[in-house]
Amino acid sequence: MRREGCLIFGAGPAGLKAAIELRRKGVNGPDLTIIASSESPPYRPVYSTTIGPGGRLLAEYLSLMPADRVTFLDRIRVLAPGVDFTVSVPRQGSYFTIDYPSLVAALKREAQELEVSILEFPLTTLARLRIASGEVAINGSVFEPDLVVDATGVDAVLASRVEPERRGEDPWVAAVYFKTVSGFMTSPAMALIFGPAGGTSWLNPSFEPGCLDLVYSAWVRKSKMTEFLEEARCRWEELAHFCQQVPGIEVGGRVIRDGWGMIRSQPIPPPKSRLIYPLGEAAGLALPGSGDSLRLALLSAELFASSLRQGLTPEEFWRRVTAYHRYYLFFAMVLARLSFQEKGNLGGLVRILGQWLSSPTASPQLTRAIERYVIEGKLSPQLFARIMRQREFADYLLRVVARWLKVRLGLNSDHSNHYPLPPLRGA
Ligand SMILES: Cc1cc2nc3c(=O)[nH]c(=O)nc-3n(C[C@H](O)[C@H](O)[C@H](O)COP(=O)(O)OP(=O)(O)OC[C@H]3O[C@@H](n4cnc5c(N)ncnc54)[C@H](O)[C@@H]3O)c2cc1C
Repeated sequence: MRREGCLIFGAGPAGLKAAIELRRKGVNGPDLTIIASSESPPYRPVYSTTIGPGGRLLAEYLSLMPADRVTFLDRIRVLAPGVDFTVSVPRQGSYFTIDYPSLVAALKREAQELEVSILEFPLTTLARLRIASGEVAINGSVFEPDLVVDATGVDAVLASRVEPERRGEDPWVAAVYFKTVSGFMTSPAMALIFGPAGGTSWLNPSFEPGCLDLVYSAWVRKSKMTEFLEEARCRWEELAHFCQQVPGIEVGGRVIRDGWGMIRSQPIPPPKSRLIYPLGEAAGLALPGSGDSLRLALLSAELFASSLRQGLTPEEFWRRVTAYHRYYLFFAMVLARLSFQEKGNLGGLVRILGQWLSSPTASPQLTRAIERYVIEGKLSPQLFARIMRQREFADYLLRVVARWLKVRLGLNSDHSNHYPLPPLRGA
């Protein structure tokens, strides 16, 4: 039996950052171990922002990464059928794309410099780990930690093992399917693409010169991933076809890599266990589609370290961290996302925003409010009031709310991933 102060499962951004912050804050003395998977971190076409405290955390780490593993983007291009406008991104609120494996490697180096021990096991072994009455058994080794951090990402392996109410949980996730392909964009922008393939998607420069990451994403039940993947391949082709028609974008035929993954769309229920602190993606603190998941994962790790110092229990910590989450998960963002799926396009929203942005009478405040909505997902009360005054949009929002309520109350038996997506070309 090995006694550990704090055992952290998962060497992703949240787990590594938690260890670094605990060390920096001097919590838990020398007994701090990360249980990591020995497989190298997968590539993910990740973008994020420097806005807010999490953004500052990220920016800090970006300086540790090789410069060619980070691309700053000074504009975002919004594309939908019949819509093509570009929003410039202020320097303060930069968007950037990051090479996820390099970020993890930089965090790992720092954790090791702070003498955090990292024990590596194959993921297959870790999938079978047992946790009972405060003891954790992995492949014959038994640990008795004072506390456990579950930073295992979307599967939330530990929390779901010990929390009875988590067993039946079947959360909605944002499912992501991507390919890195040869190609180029004439200006280094990120393109957010709504509609043509049914989900919300994006295209951004990749880290290989002359390549692009083209990503298809849609909401799906976790249990329906097989169906999602089958459909996603066709939807991705549809997306590539759409992008090939857009001036300034060239999507070539050479595929460098492909992959898929899930991003949780909702926080887990409050933890009952007094042993396990769920963090980052495992706690469901992501904000799919906003480019904020990564920084929220890092932010949750920082909040965790300060909460532990204040002696907060897992449940108290969860309340603290979800308060941040609620703020970010402003309902318009979620509803707008649901409606993309239902209608296969952005309804009136992109058109209304586009009209305002291009209108010569648009006030600078309104333009800024729209930029904040598009870039940061934050809707100011003034902008919300103006949107609601557009009859077309108010009607559509009400329909979306009604549908959302039906789904939440279990009145909608057709609650599956079979959205009325736009027909595939040639279908
Ligand atoms: C394809 C894809 C695209 C994405 N795009 C974006 C984006 O553009 N912007 C954005 O902000 N976010 C994006 N995300 C989400 C973002 O990557 C996550 O929110 C973020 O990485 C969460 O960090 P984390 O440390 O909580 O979890 P993760 O990064 O998932 O790390 C979890 C770690 O735990 C390990 N693990 C799993 N099980 C065990 C176990 N039993 N024991 C030990 N270790 C275990 C895993 O191998 C992994 O290393 C994307 C995710 C995917 C999958």
